[in-house]
Amino acid sequence: MCALPAMRVSAGCIDFINEARFNALLAPSRPDPGRVREIIDKSLAKEALSLEETAVLLGAEDPGQIEAIFQAARTLKERVYGNRIVLFAPLYIGNHCVNDCAYCGFKRSNKEAVRRTLRGGELEAQIRALQRAGHKRLILVFGEHPAYDAESIAEAVRTAYRIKEGRGEIRRVNINAAPLDVEGFRAVKAAGIGTYQIFMETYHRATYARLHPAYTRKGDYLYRLDALNRALEAGCDDVGIGALFGLYDWKFEVLGLVAHALHLQERFRVGPHTISFPRIKPASGVCLDDCHDVSDEEFARVVAILRLAVPYTGLILTAREPAALRRRLMAFGVSQIDAGTRLEIGGYTEAGDAQVMEREQFSLGDVRSLDEVIFELVEDGYVPSFCTACYRLGRTGEHFMEFAIPGFIKRFCTPNALTTFKEYLIDYASPRTRAAGERRIAAELAQLPDDPQKAALMRRLEAIETGTARDLYC
Ligand code: SAM
Ligand code: SF4
Repeated sequence: MCALPAMRVSAGCIDFINEARFNALLAPSRPDPGRVREIIDKSLAKEALSLEETAVLLGAEDPGQIEAIFQAARTLKERVYGNRIVLFAPLYIGNHCVNDCAYCGFKRSNKEAVRRTLRGGELEAQIRALQRAGHKRLILVFGEHPAYDAESIAEAVRTAYRIKEGRGEIRRVNINAAPLDVEGFRAVKAAGIGTYQIFMETYHRATYARLHPAYTRKGDYLYRLDALNRALEAGCDDVGIGALFGLYDWKFEVLGLVAHALHLQERFRVGPHTISFPRIKPASGVCLDDCHDVSDEEFARVVAILRLAVPYTGLILTAREPAALRRRLMAFGVSQIDAGTRLEIGGYTEAGDAQVMEREQFSLGDVRSLDEVIFELVEDGYVPSFCTACYRLGRTGEHFMEFAIPGFIKRFCTPNALTTFKEYLIDYASPRTRAAGERRIAAELAQLPDDPQKAALMRRLEAIETGTARDLYC
């Protein structure tokens, strides 16, 4: 493995994480029930919370207050978000890595890892397999290595858009890769990426320093903290933040995420499109004995409090978590999930259902197929969506627009969710999922007023049914 000298390039980066303030805000105190209610009501009125307000919710330990927070997250989800859930799949492109993050199976010191990069025909085969399963949205994931520079990331993006398998196509390609410089972000933007996602892992400096050796590229805390500022400066107006829960105190990390979202909003007038909150999972060659374990109940509080703190930001809950927990937390305002996920490189064609730890980054909690996940979503009253309309029509800042423009969800999001779901049902669903899905679509249509918009939607659904058209959206 090539061991590059660490790049110390963080001079001039802005540090917006004020640990002393976080610690003061998180100092144990019993929050006043009236204050908790006030903050919940502010969130239900769709206003973003301040750090201080978020800290009050994090301080609530009384079971009644915790239940009130859960209930508010459910209400916000129902009132504001509706019942759409966007589906995507991660595609691990390469696991070479020059870093040595203590928790990750791709770290360079992991001798058990089988190193591999998908290129050419191998990459095409994975994309075709994902399309055959019905996926339209991918996130490409890379280790950090000179071989995965901006141009090679851009080339993988272009390949994903170019390949067409039967009626399938990939309509949105997101990225999870190392931080780039401004030029690099410009190059991947030009390739047509959707969201550029970078997780800070932990916002706590001492923990960050302990887990990311200073001699590695990722050892530079500030360079990573500044990464999405550079992305936005470069014109990537769609960015995703995240923290890896279990590395440090979960309450501190929630404040870190909210501070990050507020910083981007203040500086660029656009907050992050999405927040991810992966929990650390066992990984090959990884032994973490000083983890800050986050229980399922604490994890539920993470999701609910984030929902309330940033009402306009999408929340991503990944297949790291087991199916039953995903099912429960979906109701708290999760907007995107992955499904049919395989982490081993080449796993969409080669390994079937097996999990191959030597080639995986970490182990998965939910290994069901996309079809099984969709069936369950439909049974639970959700509308699975593969919509990519805003991004393709240049309606950027789409997630904000959904809420900012009165009637936007009814006019655009619901119809586009239904047409993309219909395509899935016709082209890829099992008979059981198809039947359940058609019932769901009929129930959704019955709730729409009989107006010209509904008539246009019915025509689009009819065209998809008869096979005369695909990819219809408004
Ligand atoms: N190499 C890039 C980076 O570090 O930003 C991106 C790819 S990395 C494979 C994607 C994410 O996986 C990391 O940001 C980290 O949060 C997560 N991850 C790493 N090890 C994990 C583990 N053992 N359990 C759960 N998530 C993990
Ligand atoms: Fe490499 Fe990313 Fe894993 Fe760190 S988290 S070892 S940078 S792949």
